[in-house]
Parts: sequence; C-alpha cells; structure tokens
Amino acid sequence: MTKTPYYITTAIAYTSGKPHIGNVYEIVLADAIARFKKEEGYDVYFQTGTDEHGQKIEEKALAANQTPQAFVDSVAAQIKSLFDGMNVKYDYFIRTTDQDHEKRVQKIFKKLYDQGDIYKSEYEGWYCTPCESFYTDSQLTDGKCPDCGRDVHKAKEESYFFKLSKYQDRLMKHIEDHPNFIQPPSRKNEMVNNFLKPGLQDLAVSRTSFKWGIPVDFDDKHVVYVWIDALSNYITGLGYDVDGNHGDLYKKYWPADVHLIGKDILRFHTLYWPIMLMALDCPLPKQVFGHPWLLVGDGKMSKSKGNTIYSDDMVKLFGVDGVRYIMLREMPFANDGSITIPSMVERINTDIVNIVGNLANRTWNMSMKYFNGVIEASDAPTQEDQELIDLAISLKHDMISSMSELKVAESIEAIITLAKRANKYIDETLPWNIAKDEAQRARLSRVIKNLLETIRIVAVALRSFVPETSDKLLSILNHPESSFESLTDFDVLKPGHRLNNENIIIMPRLVLEDVMKAYEAQLPKEEKKEEEPVVEVDPEATIDDFKKMVFKVGEVLDCKVHPDANKLLVSQIDVGGKVHQVVSGIAAQFKPEDLIGKKVMLVTNLKPVKLRGVLSEGMILVATNREGKQEIVTFTSSEKGSKIS
Ligand SMILES: [Zn+2]
Repeated sequence: MTKTPYYITTAIAYTSGKPHIGNVYEIVLADAIARFKKEEGYDVYFQTGTDEHGQKIEEKALAANQTPQAFVDSVAAQIKSLFDGMNVKYDYFIRTTDQDHEKRVQKIFKKLYDQGDIYKSEYEGWYCTPCESFYTDSQLTDGKCPDCGRDVHKAKEESYFFKLSKYQDRLMKHIEDHPNFIQPPSRKNEMVNNFLKPGLQDLAVSRTSFKWGIPVDFDDKHVVYVWIDALSNYITGLGYDVDGNHGDLYKKYWPADVHLIGKDILRFHTLYWPIMLMALDCPLPKQVFGHPWLLVGDGKMSKSKGNTIYSDDMVKLFGVDGVRYIMLREMPFANDGSITIPSMVERINTDIVNIVGNLANRTWNMSMKYFNGVIEASDAPTQEDQELIDLAISLKHDMISSMSELKVAESIEAIITLAKRANKYIDETLPWNIAKDEAQRARLSRVIKNLLETIRIVAVALRSFVPETSDKLLSILNHPESSFESLTDFDVLKPGHRLNNENIIIMPRLVLEDVMKAYEAQLPKEEKKEEEPVVEVDPEATIDDFKKMVFKVGEVLDCKVHPDANKLLVSQIDVGGKVHQVVSGIAAQFKPEDLIGKKVMLVTNLKPVKLRGVLSEGMILVATNREGKQEIVTFTSSEKGSKIS
C-alpha cells in the first residue's frame, strides 16, 4: 500500500543572527509533528531552512566586515547546528541563496510580470529598516513601526507591485470554504476582518535600495523583495518549475499539509502566499498554522525584540529532551506559553522524573525482585486491572485525534495521565503484599506485566516528543523494537522475555538551586560601574577661577569605543598643533562616526586622568536635557585651536 504523503514546513529562519528560543521552538514543534505522522504511517517530508537576503543582512555583513555571502554562510551553519542540537530530523534544509532557488524565483517573478500580475510603479511611505517594510500613515502605531515599535522614516523608491486586489475575492471565498485553512480559528477572523474586508493594497515586491537579493533578471536595478523570494521556498525546495517541468518531490508532496509559522507572519502566509499560488495556478496549502509564542519569564522571544536565552544554553541546563519536553508540553494551542527557570525545573521533575521515571524504576525493581526480570505466565486480567488497560489501549486513538489538530501539549498530557494512573495502580494493587503469598504468583505476574506493558506504551507514545527518553524506557524493558501499531496491543511482552539487567535513570532529578546557579553563570556579565569623568567646579567661581580653565575648539580626528567600557568613547582631538586623547561617557548616545570630523568644545588643561585604563587629557562639553538626551557643543566656522572665552 502506498503511504499518504504529508508535507510539513516551518518558516525559514532569517540569517541576521543566532535564532532565539522562539524560532527553535517552531522547529522542535514541527519535528515532533513530523515524527508522529511518520509513526502514524504517513510518507512525511519535512522542510526547513534559512531566509538569507535583505538590507539588514547586507548591513550586518558590512558591519562585520564580511561579504553578505560569507556572513549568511556562517549564520546558516550556526542555525543548522542549533537545530541539530535539538535532535531535529528534517528532510531538507533550503537556503534562499541556493542557486536552484534563485533561478526558480527569477522565473516566477518573470512569469507574474509577463501575465500582468506584477507591474512597475513608485512607492512612497514610511520605511522601517530593521523590518525592511513600508507602512502607510494609518498602519503606523503612534508614529512608529507597527511590527517592532522602532522609528520609521519617509522613503520613496521605484518598485514592482503585485496586484493582490485582483485575487482578493477568490481568496476570501477559499478561506470561507476551507475552515481549516487558517488555524487556530481566532487567527482567521483577524486576517479576514483586519485585512481582507478593508481591501488589500498592491504589494511592493522589489527593491532598489539594496543589492543583497535575487536580481530581477529583466531589470537589474531591482532585487526581488522578501515575499516572492522567501515564501516560494515551500515550492522551489520541492523542485517547482513555472514551465511545468516539476521535480518528483513537488508532484508528490505539494500542496503542503501544514505551514507551521509564528503568528506574527500569518498575514504573509495567509494573504500574500495563497495569492501568489493562485497567480501561479498552483493548489493552495491545506493549512497555515500560526503557533503562539513561547515566553520566557515575561519577555517575548521573537526576532524583532532582543532577548538572550538561547536553546543551546537551555540544553546545558536541562538536556536536549528536557528542553524539547518543556517546549512541547508548556505551549498551549492558541495562547502564548510562559516558562521560567523554576517552572521548567518543576515540570521536568514532576512529569518525567516523578511520574514516568518513578513508574519505570519501581516496576523494574519489583520485576527484578520477584521474577529476576523475566516475564512469567500470568493470570487473566481482573476487573481491578481493566481501568488501567482501557486507558492504555485508548491512548493511541486519543493522540491521533489531538495530533490531527496539532494539539501537541494535549497529546503529551494524555501520556502523563496514563503514567500517573499506573502509579496509582501500584498503590491499589500493593504487589509487595501479593508477593507474600506464593499461591498468588501468577496474579503477581499479571500485576507486573500490566505495569510493564503500560510503561512500554508510554515509551512508544513519547517517542515523537522526547526520542532519547523513549529509547531509555524501551531499553529498560529490553524491547526497542516496540512499534507504533503495538500501542493498542497489551500483550507484547511474552513469557520468557527478559528485562535489561541494569536499571537506567531516564532523567536525573533537577535541583532548582543548582540550575539557577548554572543559569546565572550563563547570563552576560553585568558591566562594572563606569568611572565617570568628574570635574569639580566651584559653584561660586571667581573670574580668576574661570580664567584658570582653558576652553578650545578641537577637531575630532578619530574616535573609537573604549576597549573595556562600551559606554565610553575615546577621541583624538586636534586643538591646532596638539592632539589630546579624551575619554567621554557619551557612547550611549553617540557613535564614533557621529563625532569624527566635528569641531567640539574642549577643556584642555584638566589634570590628565586614567579612565578604565585609558589616559584622558581633557573634556568634551556636553549638555543633557530632561529626557537624558545629550547634545554636544559644536562649531562650524571657528578654526580648530581657537580659544573660547
Ligand atoms: Zn520595524
């Protein structure tokens, strides 16, 4: 029988830097779903990758003194290794700088242009550089970028536009006819009411303001902007070809079963992407699932706002399966999940160490003690056993049902509930009492077997979520071959089967204090208090006192951030014949390039002092306003070296 194909993708990670835990959450979630679907019998294809073009990357590469390609090569490698470090098994990792992808995107762009869906015009609006997006007046939030809250500036550029409006009614109908297309359902209303009903504006799909992108091959002033470049990865990765010469993967796996994405990019995936596909005459993905955020403490983990817990740091604290477990278990279906270090410790200790670990440990010990770890013939199950057996046998069905709606946390909860029930079963049946009566040996064997079969089912059920833990449990049972199908079979471990001779701890108990200490050791070191340059000025200075001070116009020849204090700048200031080195506490507001070439007001005869190890021979005069914003006194026409009086 041929297996049903199942194609799952994540958003491709932007290679502007190391991804935060929120991005890694998405790949772990996709991995768990992909593994589960595979177990369930689907022919799964799981694609992820990196989005590597854009102005921000061009700028970051420049700042790092690298070519954009070298920059994205190194970030993409880092992202891959983070994903691999989470035991993620994708089938294909696409990079938007792949030559195949670039060629296919150029052909897509050309086709859309040739058929009149893309036209050339001019764009004017508010531009946010970090988000690389234009906004209209009404889209701004309090005059700031609606996506990241940063300042925007007016910008104008020639651009190619995609006629979204042409496909708007068709898309609206598709969304209404396919209630599962946008999930969870609350997101659907958001898209329809906020964007579709007010009417879609045509979308600028090229840029001339930067070079690091796929060139529009018939107009080389332009590069293809992120939408067509990044979104089309879902089909170019499968070998889609505009001329119809598709690769086998495309023929087999498209349309995707689910695009898993963060809720912040839902608009692009449920409006722009389906319209692009309509224009290309391709079937639409079956579902776009906008997952909620994983919150650590109170801070949102996303790419727009900086936050510094990375998954590899978390792995050092909790192990790979510990982090996978937390991510998958703590994320509610539709709302943001919130975790803190203490809540993570508590969750792992409760679920994995106490409930699952204890069950395995107690049962293995009893089996060793009473049966030398060998399964014996046993009585038929009694009424007392039935509740546990029924719960165990129904787990597979319950999981398939919740996983079909991508309710991963609910699936895991069902597994833990079963393990909990088995612990209770030990307390109900009191095997150590049964063991006192040799005549009840076959009954005792039945009780232990019930527990072992339950552990086996728990282990198999956990495999998609915490693979290593699952392996350890099955290795305690000495039955690694347990299959997904056997989840409904309560008679797999036959008489004569021998358990592992060694007990295995599936996860060590975490001690909050130790984890906190290790966590704090990972945090970036706090800066030591800066020694601010201090000049003592007598509030009642006489004219003679004032005359002691020498003020001169100085030209800033060079300026650098202090090697040991990032709040200080070190400037070389020419006062006409003599160059003073001056350390100033102004780096929070001024960059070195803000100062270089400026003529500033300098106190030149202060007693030289060392500030954080660097000699300072003077002081730049700065005013500070009520909001703490600093302004430097500068001169335009006065010569350097001129005395100020
Ligand atoms: Zn922004």
